[in-house]
Amino acid sequence: MSLVYLNGEFKPIEEAAISVLDRGFLFGDGVYEVIPVYGGRLFRLEQHLWRLDNSLAGIRILPPHGSAEWRDLLSELVSRNGGGDLTVYVQVTRGVGPRDHAFPAAPSPTVFAMVNPLPERAGVQGVKAITARDIRWELCNIKAITLLPNALLRQQAVEAGATEAILHRNGSVTEGAASNVFVVSRGEVATPPQSAQLLPGITRDLVVELLQEAGVPCDERAVSLDELRRAGEIWITSSTREIVPVTELDGIPIAGGQAGPVWETAQTLYQDFKTRVRAEGAG
Ligand code: PMP
Repeated sequence: MSLVYLNGEFKPIEEAAISVLDRGFLFGDGVYEVIPVYGGRLFRLEQHLWRLDNSLAGIRILPPHGSAEWRDLLSELVSRNGGGDLTVYVQVTRGVGPRDHAFPAAPSPTVFAMVNPLPERAGVQGVKAITARDIRWELCNIKAITLLPNALLRQQAVEAGATEAILHRNGSVTEGAASNVFVVSRGEVATPPQSAQLLPGITRDLVVELLQEAGVPCDERAVSLDELRRAGEIWITSSTREIVPVTELDGIPIAGGQAGPVWETAQTLYQDFKTRVRAEGAG
């Protein structure tokens, strides 16, 4: 039985309930994080908490907890659920109030956290992706629970027999519906720079860091849709799926329809880093 955290209490998921007047339910007025857990250890927790604080500040919710409190609360949730390899989902909404677009005078945030199994590493041999126009808003750096455009785009991909939609705005690649995007062009890795058009992915940042440390050329720069189509390799990254090679884009094979050699390097660096974190707890 899965135990969740809701507003100060741990309880079975079946017993966790929120008001229908919660602004998360009525307006999608909230933010979230997804944090992988390896061997019971929260991976890149500081980075996830930093981004959560940024998302909260971005929608003007005061942080309900400081970093040490979050660490205790989430670690307790993980251990109460048996530890191991999991993902933790954390959501903070502006809480309950009369249904009015403007904020309540004295909001009391709803804080919810649950664990889920880590998805199978099924995509590692390569996935299909489609390209789609980025129809989202102008604050995509905020990890908002308001995911309707992302859900529509992901569904478009699924209905085309693909796993992910790679989004573009004014001819430039932004990110995936729920991932960041890397390309390999002429042996060099590139990923779009951080901006309000994309989420600052924790996996993305780690991949950039690991490649640069290993001396693999990796640039944070604009990637055009044309460059994406001509890329030698394409990868998508996220906390739950790690680094996944895209082997077909809009029905056309990429990297000969297989995971490419630069992906192999990135994958080895990432898996070695995870192994160190499991062993040492630093990460
Ligand atoms: N962009 C979007 C829109 C996402 O939903 C995600 C996954 N949450 C990412 C990028 C990847 O971010 P991370 O590596 O932090 O999981």
